[in-house]
Amino acid sequence: MKHLAEENIAEKKIGLRVDLNVPIKNGEILNDERLSAALPTIQFILERTNKLCIISHLGRPEEGKFDKNYSLDPIKKWLEDKLEVSIPLIKNFTEVPDSLSIMENIRFFKGEKSNDQELTSIISESFDVYVMDAFATAHRSSSSTYGAIIKSKKAFSGLLFSKEIKSLDAALVSSKNALSVVGGSKVSTKLKVIQNLLTRSSKVLVGGGIANTFLKAAGKNIGSSLVEDDMLSVSQKLLATNKIILPTHVYVADSPEANSAQLVSVDNVAADKMILDIELSNEISSIGNIDYVLWNGPLGVFEIDLFSNGTQQLISYLEETSAKVIAGGGETIFAISKFSHKNKFHYVSTAGGAFLEYLSGHKLPSVEALRLK
Ligand code: ADP
Ligand code: MG
Repeated sequence: MKHLAEENIAEKKIGLRVDLNVPIKNGEILNDERLSAALPTIQFILERTNKLCIISHLGRPEEGKFDKNYSLDPIKKWLEDKLEVSIPLIKNFTEVPDSLSIMENIRFFKGEKSNDQELTSIISESFDVYVMDAFATAHRSSSSTYGAIIKSKKAFSGLLFSKEIKSLDAALVSSKNALSVVGGSKVSTKLKVIQNLLTRSSKVLVGGGIANTFLKAAGKNIGSSLVEDDMLSVSQKLLATNKIILPTHVYVADSPEANSAQLVSVDNVAADKMILDIELSNEISSIGNIDYVLWNGPLGVFEIDLFSNGTQQLISYLEETSAKVIAGGGETIFAISKFSHKNKFHYVSTAGGAFLEYLSGHKLPSVEALRLK
């Protein structure tokens, strides 16, 4: 993959695909972390050329028409504020000026999702150089994240994109000193991730709703906990690798709405109780020396403080360990921003879906397209 810094882009006209897909309510940006993460590449380019057009999607609008609820206008204003310049919000590739601009939501364009050849030609022919920096969208084969890279005369990965790949690759390299931690609600959505991580990590610590299914597969009584019975046999096979660490103690309650939780051994879960969180002190004290920790998926129903113990214990451990920590996933990022105050993680991915796809060992279309350039 060629990195942007390898090319002299002075005076060149640049199309930059970033991921500025942030939550917006009534025109107000609720979380601007992704915008901040995109800034270094924007600034890097602006130091060399101001013929830059910023391209992103926002939400899931109906393709082929403008919808002001999905307009990039609030993002344009955020960027204007940070960069201290005015930035025209343009609606067509025929309008790209020889100065800084931002394109309206690329998902308003017909053919973006299906990687339509006409649209990819229009995008790629509008620029001298195409830069892909939207790692969070790297798993989609759309026009602006795949086709335009293929068709452009020159295409490079941006600073954020390269950093994401580098961090993930380092953590994924087989290492007997790597620990993976996988939580979240369902085994089915994480099965590929767990399988791939088992081939690379010495141990995989399992928590969250996923642990319930594994506990049941191991013969434990899990009461009325969230479980996926169709995943029991595959879970048993994964347990047979002897690399999966299951919690020994859990927090149970009548329901997620309960006012109190009880700490019990996994051998003592009553039939009418749900496992909603885990206790990690035993597992943490037996981790030992490791070089890398890869984490995806909250270890309990952390959105409710009462069931956030395991997730908070893990975050505290990760803040203190000397191992390199790489974390990612939609809810995981949210949990980190909620409970971590130290900013000590080696790398927190900006991506949810693309991060999981990469952890599963799948090839990402944008990465493959950039490798062909
Ligand atoms: P990510 O987006 O980080 O990949 P997931 O989407 O897989 O994570 O899962 C996150 C969700 O899992 C959280 O909303 C959390 O409430 C839920 N969860 C965690 N533990 C449990 C549990 N024991 N029972 C039910 N849901 C759980
Ligand atoms: Mg999620």
